[in-house]
Amino acid sequence: MGFEIRRIEIERKTYKLVKTFRISLGAMSESTVIQIRLILNGGTVGLGEASPSFKISGEYLNSVETALRELSQEFIGEDVRNYRVLFDRIDEMFRTFPSAKSALQYAILDALTAEYGLTPFEFFGGAKRKIVSDKTVGIDDVNTMVEDAKNIKGEGFRTIKIKIDSVDFALDVVPKIADATGNIGYIVDANQALKPKEAVEVAEKLHSLGVNVLVLEQPVFKHDYDGLRFVRERSPFPVAADESLYTRYDAFKLARDECVDVFNIKLMKSGLSDGMAIVEIARSAGITLMIGCMGESSLGITQSIDFAAGLGYFTYLDLDCPFLHAEDSKYRGYIRDGDELTVLDREEREKLKD
Ligand code: MN
Repeated sequence: MGFEIRRIEIERKTYKLVKTFRISLGAMSESTVIQIRLILNGGTVGLGEASPSFKISGEYLNSVETALRELSQEFIGEDVRNYRVLFDRIDEMFRTFPSAKSALQYAILDALTAEYGLTPFEFFGGAKRKIVSDKTVGIDDVNTMVEDAKNIKGEGFRTIKIKIDSVDFALDVVPKIADATGNIGYIVDANQALKPKEAVEVAEKLHSLGVNVLVLEQPVFKHDYDGLRFVRERSPFPVAADESLYTRYDAFKLARDECVDVFNIKLMKSGLSDGMAIVEIARSAGITLMIGCMGESSLGITQSIDFAAGLGYFTYLDLDCPFLHAEDSKYRGYIRDGDELTVLDREEREKLKD
């Protein structure tokens, strides 16, 4: 057994998407990630991945890569069994690089659990070996979005996430998708594009049309906590914070001021440290949990699958980013069948490592 970190390697990878993915904040046709390979002194390897988003988090790719390359070296010689101490140091050092926090913290847990023949899924609690994800329809012309939604249902997905960017667009496309896909259940995500009153208008009209909206996600500007609460108090549907929620401090304020019904945690916004804290704040405050993603490959999404499946507290899972990729990592900690994701055990995972 060897629990000391001997080497940390950083590599940049770019994966092409099946089609350009558009949200209210911009569009992407490929995803560039930073992958970590953390090697313990006995040779055990832990993997991790950062998927930085400049438009959402202000994380510039080159900065994240440089920070990981240089600062991660300070952890050489550290014992991964002291993961909590290491997580606190990572929180301090990578304060402005949450995706780097996730990659390094997960790589530490991956190596620690591998040394014991376990997985991070088991470390987090081993609650549900199988979880169900939605899949997202990006912004496009309305007919294309309806076709995309029909295809997603055909692939076996039981919940569809729909990106919108204005009142008129939402009231046009969401009912049409609901008509075409049997009103199965929709997460409507505005990515901050609406004013509070507009968000209430969208929610009330979709409700009066009988559209089965499960969650209205981040309707208003990320810093407008009062606006979130305004929408929450008037919306017939649960309201979620996504871009408004990065750290445990955000979660505390959102919970204290009763701004939202749902927290959308993304490890790329919070790392594992703040992700774990946010989960407990949500459970204390009776807030429903959702987990989402940025542009992770299958390696990167394994972090969130282990976290969500291991804890088992998540009602809504939006872990579809690798399904939108035309190219993917060789490594994955799960297999997918329709909308079901089943975690792999340590032995199965090790076969997929280079
Ligand atoms: Mn979102």
